[in-house]
Amino acid sequence: MIPRLVSSKYCTGCLACVDACKLGAINFCIKEDGHLYPVVTDNKCVGCGQCTNVCIGIDDKYKTYQSHGRSTPFAGWSLDDIGRKNSASGGIFYALACYVISVGGYVIGAVLEKNEVKLVSTNEIECVKKMQNSKYQQPNTAGIYEEAKSILEKGYKLLFTGAPCHIAALFLYLRKRTYNNLITCDFICSGYPSLLPIKKTIAYFNPEAEIKSFRDKTNGWKNLGFIYELKLNCNNVVINCGSHNLATAAFSSGLTQRYSCTHCQLCFSSRKSDLTIGDFWGEKRFAEQQKKGISLIIVHTPAIVSLIVKAKCFIQESSWEECLPYNPRIIDGKRRYVRFSPSRLFMVWLFRKNSYKKLCNFYYGETNIVNIFYKLYCKITICIHEYFSKRVIVFFFKANKNEN
Ligand SMILES: Cc1cc2nc3c(=O)[nH]c(=O)nc-3n(C[C@H](O)[C@H](O)[C@H](O)COP(=O)(O)OP(=O)(O)OC[C@H]3O[C@@H](n4cnc5c(N)ncnc54)[C@H](O)[C@@H]3O)c2cc1C
Repeated sequence: MIPRLVSSKYCTGCLACVDACKLGAINFCIKEDGHLYPVVTDNKCVGCGQCTNVCIGIDDKYKTYQSHGRSTPFAGWSLDDIGRKNSASGGIFYALACYVISVGGYVIGAVLEKNEVKLVSTNEIECVKKMQNSKYQQPNTAGIYEEAKSILEKGYKLLFTGAPCHIAALFLYLRKRTYNNLITCDFICSGYPSLLPIKKTIAYFNPEAEIKSFRDKTNGWKNLGFIYELKLNCNNVVINCGSHNLATAAFSSGLTQRYSCTHCQLCFSSRKSDLTIGDFWGEKRFAEQQKKGISLIIVHTPAIVSLIVKAKCFIQESSWEECLPYNPRIIDGKRRYVRFSPSRLFMVWLFRKNSYKKLCNFYYGETNIVNIFYKLYCKITICIHEYFSKRVIVFFFKANKNEN
């Protein structure tokens, strides 16, 4: 039997289907495009449909368990300076995670292990430290939904963090919108890049190296023009790949990302989480705080505000007019143009046939004539798209606010 799952073009790689199949008929693999996909063992499948029930991409299932309807943006940061320093922006995740653990709860988040990113559960601060900072790589999530269910059913408080598609998959897996002991936190997501560029980059700099960080605050956080730098580690020697490397370019440009991310259904009001965190690009009121990093916190469940205060964070209400212009992905993470770009369409072939240097030229080369025209095309499309989406969404949120 062949189970009914969404096609690979729409599959988010959330892997909830792997957990849903109790017969072990669904596993996962990294396909030749460097993205995670479920793989079905036909002879084990009995057609029970459990995997179809949790597939967010099928029959518009992502619409099940709609969000609460009213969302408010806040600026904030953790009052723990070290925790904040080791985080991507204002350290809100670390503060919340420490609070949940201090009251006997568990945290689920992404850790890097030997160049693989995984969602894992923990009730130890040492492991939370490994969850800090953004890993621009799709995590292996197999087993995590069942783990979350088991923690919740034992009555422990749980902070589940992940991309918006992971949160949507979790609710379908739990078959329930509210658990009194569950807090869900997603991030403003620009999509997951393929593993091909990061593998090629590691092989070029040092095949033995492990990823240390995709970005850090060694040179401080900037409210605009922040530059990501990839750092590798080999035998305790740090290799700084800088910002002009294939992996960073592939993430920033979005040119290798999953096809499902180019038409993400979960970036706007379909988010299911209690709060969404991101970088507060363009924040002007707290100029003295910018060097340390400022988080944008979009609260979907009002009770979360008091929890953030209890977790020893500073938090102050902001406005859509302030945060949207610099971070349009809050409302639209899709990069539709990627679907039609030669770099994405021929990605597998390009990576197979070309050296690291040639790929760099293709993915961010300033002198490559195809790139010059393609970048110009992207810039125009993005400008038009952002201009209209910003206006539509500001209008939507205002209307939404007035209704409430
Ligand atoms: C792929 C990706 C794209 C992003 N795109 C944007 C963007 O366009 N705009 C923006 O404002 N912010 C974006 N972010 C979020 C931003 O980088 C920070 O993660 C966010 O500001 C939270 O910062 P923090 O200081 O509170 O916590 P941090 O300590 O920096 O965040 C850690 C949290 O992120 C989770 N996490 C880290 N990597 C992954 C991963 N690969 N998969 C799932 N969860 C992960 C951890 O589990 C933990 O919950 C993105 C993050 C990722 C992982």
